[in-house]
Amino acid sequence: MRQVEKVAPSQVYTEQVAANQSTGLTPANHLMNTNGQNSDAAHFDAIVIGAGPAGSTAAAVLAEKGRRVVILEKQKFPRYSVGESLIPYCYFPLERIGVLEKIRQAAFVKKYSVQFAGVDGRISQPFYFFQHLEHEASQTWQVWRSEFDKILLDNALEKGAQVLEETVAKKLIRDGDQYVGVEARGKDGVSRSLYAPITIDCSGRDGFALKRNDWLVRDPKLNKISIWTYYRGGLRDKGHDEGATTVAYLPEKGWFWYLPLAGDVVSVGITAEADYLYRGGKDVPAIFEREIHVNKWIEEHLVPAERINDFRVTGEYSYRSRHCAAGGLVLAGDAFAFLDPVFSSGVLLALRGGEMAGDAVDAALTAGDFSAERFRGYSEQLCSGMEAMRKLVYAFYDDAFSFGKLFRKYPDLRSDTTDCLIGNLFRDFDPLFKAVAEFADVPKPVPHGAPLTTASKEMTEDKAAPA
Ligand SMILES: Cc1cc2nc3c(=O)[nH]c(=O)nc-3n(C[C@H](O)[C@H](O)[C@H](O)COP(=O)(O)OP(=O)(O)OC[C@H]3O[C@@H](n4cnc5c(N)ncnc54)[C@H](O)[C@@H]3O)c2cc1C
Repeated sequence: MRQVEKVAPSQVYTEQVAANQSTGLTPANHLMNTNGQNSDAAHFDAIVIGAGPAGSTAAAVLAEKGRRVVILEKQKFPRYSVGESLIPYCYFPLERIGVLEKIRQAAFVKKYSVQFAGVDGRISQPFYFFQHLEHEASQTWQVWRSEFDKILLDNALEKGAQVLEETVAKKLIRDGDQYVGVEARGKDGVSRSLYAPITIDCSGRDGFALKRNDWLVRDPKLNKISIWTYYRGGLRDKGHDEGATTVAYLPEKGWFWYLPLAGDVVSVGITAEADYLYRGGKDVPAIFEREIHVNKWIEEHLVPAERINDFRVTGEYSYRSRHCAAGGLVLAGDAFAFLDPVFSSGVLLALRGGEMAGDAVDAALTAGDFSAERFRGYSEQLCSGMEAMRKLVYAFYDDAFSFGKLFRKYPDLRSDTTDCLIGNLFRDFDPLFKAVAEFADVPKPVPHGAPLTTASKEMTEDKAAPA
């Protein structure tokens, strides 16, 4: 019998809980100057803000090339993060930075497929990635992000990156039209200035640079909210199907995710319009309990389960920064853009964005050119991959669209659709979206996201030039 304990409103978490933790430098984290003495100022080739998948990947790429890179991370790892379901093409950046073996050895649940459950409980045939991709990448994982992100951070450290945990980036330091460093504060409350010709902002949905510079542009149609929690003992299938992601529909284009994790835990969440979820009030536990009974598949799978965690809530879905770079600054991962998580694309875009940013920054260091313009290629490639996923997300939420309708008329496009779903995003999808446009509104690419090449008045955080 499933037990649902009543949760007081004060126990309902938002993502801000983590953001509000106090931060600081531990003694071991103190910066040393070249004589091995504590130093309040330090110079690097690159500063990375944030040690999520984007930041640790960018830092690993740069450290491997012998660059002097420091990661500033406001939390102490391992730390909680949502976003547990990977997609097959995560394999390639993970391989590039050399962590595949550690990921294989971690106790993550193997994921071979995605399936869709109607509100009446009827389940689609699992969609197996190996039917499309003859490569070991077709098996991916459902991960505990605390452990996954720690593996990536340790890897950056092993490759030679310096890591300052419990250190919060407070300000970008600006010299004319270039950013030249970061002012950071540790647990001891002391602010230190760190200098580098380039800073990579990987601060996730905190959006360090995009919020300070007022660069956040929301996607007007993808403005949902999510509520999620964790259960122990939820039903799961056997063998290859044990780690399947299930997307279970709710009315008005809402949906549940059901992700089997290690330790007999399932991550269960709802994404839907606020009007739909809050139609009877804002009592989050009551809303969640009500919606469980709306989808028969979810209801059945949670019968033997016990909820083991509080509820978490987030809004602010789907945005892109007006600019991906300015002089001395480049943005990657959620710090640049966030897309509705229905197709689990966030970690892939963070890993690929981190890898691409790392390579672009390495090239900038070689050329001695840290202008925003240097990152135009990075921006164009990243945005075109994001646009493919964004169009598919729009189609998912369009009442007139279904994959079934599309494949009945255009069976040949099953392969292109699958490429998009498994994360093979950096290719031409024109034929696919021409066909999708017959069934659904396909959005035009968002016009922003390019480097800030001219208007320095859009850069904030003025501060005296470094000595
Ligand atoms: C409800 C929900 C469900 C999701 N489900 C999935 C899913 O199933 N699969 C998937 O792939 N993606 C999913 N995502 C998206 C995924 O969580 C993100 O895309 C991914 O974590 C982005 O990685 P990142 O490295 O850009 O940022 P993060 O992983 O958020 O890392 C950013 C880091 O920066 C640090 N930081 C922030 N500000 C500062 C500062 N000022 N100074 C120092 N450090 C700082 C933070 O502490 C954090 O460690 C989901 C997202 C949401 C909201």
